[in-house]
Amino acid sequence: MCIQEASESNKEKTYSRGITIQFRNEEESRAFHCAFDQWKKEVVFQASHLPNGTVLASQSKFDSKIEASSAKMYFHYYGQLLHQQNMLQDYVRTGTYYAAVIENRADFFGRVVVDVGAGSGILSLFAAQAGAKHVYAVEASEMAEYARKLIAGNPILSQRITVIKGKVEEAELPEKADILISEPMGTLLVNERMLESYVIARDRFLVPNGKMFPAVGRIHMAPFSDEYLYIEIANKALFWQQQNYYGVNLTSLHGSAFQGYFSQPVVDAFDPRLLVAPAISHVINFTSIKEEELYDIDIPLKFVSSVGTRIHGLACWFDVLFNGSTVQRWLSTAPGSPTTHWYQLRCVLSQPIYVMPGQEITGRLHLAAHTAQSYTIHLTLSAKMWGPGAEQGGILQTSTGKLDLKEPYYRMSQPQVCPAAQDQQSQQLLQTQDIPILSQDEDGGSDLMQQPFQESGAEFNSL
Ligand code: SAH
Repeated sequence: MCIQEASESNKEKTYSRGITIQFRNEEESRAFHCAFDQWKKEVVFQASHLPNGTVLASQSKFDSKIEASSAKMYFHYYGQLLHQQNMLQDYVRTGTYYAAVIENRADFFGRVVVDVGAGSGILSLFAAQAGAKHVYAVEASEMAEYARKLIAGNPILSQRITVIKGKVEEAELPEKADILISEPMGTLLVNERMLESYVIARDRFLVPNGKMFPAVGRIHMAPFSDEYLYIEIANKALFWQQQNYYGVNLTSLHGSAFQGYFSQPVVDAFDPRLLVAPAISHVINFTSIKEEELYDIDIPLKFVSSVGTRIHGLACWFDVLFNGSTVQRWLSTAPGSPTTHWYQLRCVLSQPIYVMPGQEITGRLHLAAHTAQSYTIHLTLSAKMWGPGAEQGGILQTSTGKLDLKEPYYRMSQPQVCPAAQDQQSQQLLQTQDIPILSQDEDGGSDLMQQPFQESGAEFNSL
């Protein structure tokens, strides 16, 4: 070991010293090597500062695409136990992960596992329970320290788990993984841009043809009609219609305020009977997608309305598949299914469109990733005008909206009635038009106890 010391007289003293470090077991040795590798990387990074302050070391994939201020807030959020507790208390979520791991013991038993964004370490502990040979729990936030504590408190499992504090884009692991486990889903599946980290972890750590839990995600979309929601949003801007607010005319800002409210995607649990056409879905295969493909997601929309109504926008939800070799299990966030902390997401258009039963609705959902770990949503819905002139080819009514997924409106105050037995129509609407990759697991985790969440909103509430 070569150590360099700066003395008070500003003269540097360099000396070498041989030291022997003994470990009680392989686990301790492994943990030391991981920590030492991490430390070495940091030293190399610092050493690469040129005299004039230029940094030579290349930024990590994460740092080069994410604003430092966003990342700071993000990891601060996940560093707090209360937010990890909120996710752990989503029993649909955590229970489905548990069932998927334990039912697919064969995929974990004797295998090397990487837990991508381990948080409290819960999924690492599940993997160890299923007999994993070794689990590397990679976590970038301060939660890594708590994960160490939690894991140490479970001594039978802790011998087979190593917590590595760092980003999956930067951390070094001593061996390749046979299987990755992660919970990288945000609102609309893609919010937080953690799927990209999951894919980077795949490319960095997973053996060829290794397994991923989950392996597939789907975004489901259907147009909805909700007069109450529309009025509620439009009314928020009414404040700016006052001509005499303490003698001040506010009306010049009404248009901007109106657009501002419609730029917020609405997050709540809605009744699936509000859907007016069968849903379509967009599949993301985590095992094969390229990281760059998640920067820009373009989804063509085509629906056939089941009813004559005013369409107020597009409702979205997602599910993910644990493609285990014993049991395939879906974790669903669909309306009418047991509610999760992700709820559902609705993009409301400031201009509703009118449709007749059987009428076609076309459009586009375009998701453009931004540097604040979220997406700008561009939504367009069109339908041919009906009434006089419709026979002559019809004029297209088109409505567009630009929304920021980072600034959702959490609308959890109203109690939402979700009838236990759905009417047949809404059940049909929930089934996607395209053929699902694999059949839905019968009980889909819905038997798991449901409990209220302490907080509203999805994983990272943009603070
Ligand atoms: N796996 C845990 C936590 C899921 S939340 C559970 O299922 O309960 C996602 C976690 O991933 C957060 O703790 C967050 O800090 C971490 N994370 C997000 N991006 C990461 C990255 N690039 N590298 C390492 N950890 C990351």
